[in-house]
Amino acid sequence: MLKFTADQIFTVSAEPLNRAVVITDDTGKILAIESLDQHDPTSVAYVPGALIPGFVNTHCHLELSHMKGKVDTGTGLIPFITGVVTKRNAVQEEIQDAIQRAEQEMLDGGIVALGDISNAPDTFAVKSRGRMRYHTFLEMFDFLQEANAEKTFSDGLKVFEQLNHAPGSTATLVPHAPYSVSKNLFQKINAFNPGTGITVSIHNQETPPEQELFLEKKGGFLDFYGKFGISLDAFESTGQPSIYYALAHMNPAVRTLFVHNTLTTQQDIMAAQAWSDQVYWATCPNANLYIENRLPDYSAFLNTGARLTIGTDSLTSNWQLSVLEEMKTIARYQSYVPFDTLLRWATLNGAQALGFDDTLGSIEPGKTPGLLQLQGLAGGRLNAKATIHRLI
Ligand SMILES: [Zn+2]
Repeated sequence: MLKFTADQIFTVSAEPLNRAVVITDDTGKILAIESLDQHDPTSVAYVPGALIPGFVNTHCHLELSHMKGKVDTGTGLIPFITGVVTKRNAVQEEIQDAIQRAEQEMLDGGIVALGDISNAPDTFAVKSRGRMRYHTFLEMFDFLQEANAEKTFSDGLKVFEQLNHAPGSTATLVPHAPYSVSKNLFQKINAFNPGTGITVSIHNQETPPEQELFLEKKGGFLDFYGKFGISLDAFESTGQPSIYYALAHMNPAVRTLFVHNTLTTQQDIMAAQAWSDQVYWATCPNANLYIENRLPDYSAFLNTGARLTIGTDSLTSNWQLSVLEEMKTIARYQSYVPFDTLLRWATLNGAQALGFDDTLGSIEPGKTPGLLQLQGLAGGRLNAKATIHRLI
């Protein structure tokens, strides 16, 4: 049995506690939360700073870890994607080594669960060890080519069938983004996944050309597709922002995680939340700065009661894989977001979004959420030098 106390304890499921003790068994399962007065102080480990549950990272591409530093910052999404497509090949040994190091970086940084996009089976060996809970989003795209949906789907299914997750981890098939998935492919993905009780994700409203494609069939994606010899002759613009195309073709009965949302307006958020009561949003602020040099407007999400979660995206589009660094970025640029709100995004909301809140996301008896020491909270704000130390 282990006992911890700290200057403040953020359980996330309830108000912060002072003079409290968190009692766990040797595996980290929370047995009880009690008043410090009930315990002999010499039997309790004092942790300077705050005690918080482990982080849940809802969006990453672990399989792109070997591309750290290879694609330029600040160029916008289309040059970024072109860079990924043309530079992602590497020898398997290098890919595996980078994936293992990336997983270790996340474990050391207090991440206990990951929502991870896979196009290939490269991460499956690391995931099978079960060092954290994984939800694998096996991602598909057919570049809006209805005729290619069948082959794209069957190729993706062959990768999906190679998954060998440890107990507690899960997986679904998911569409990549509105600008890359045909109606036909959306239908096949929906038909394959269970109709309820699961999570799917989609990249959403990340760059102005994505909006231009759907609003007016104009902009950078026409050139992008042309360069790869892909015809958009059969594609018809919808006259609405890209998220409405996703809403028209995804299943409102399952949890849906919209990722990035840098251009998403309050009206778009309300439309999505009217479409389904199981909508979650993943924000990856450092990746947004890396790729597009812009951030979402978090006030639109706060005003609409949206359930935000935090993702790191991949090492191809980030300087590190740290949920704490994502929180610091939000605290630096949009400091009106309160710390306890940020913490909820980074823990319980993420656990709920991935369906992992049975064991993770908050310090509550019966859960095994991981326990982190957070130092660097000053006056209720996260300062730039804040650090995490993983206790369990
Ligand atoms: Zn992504």
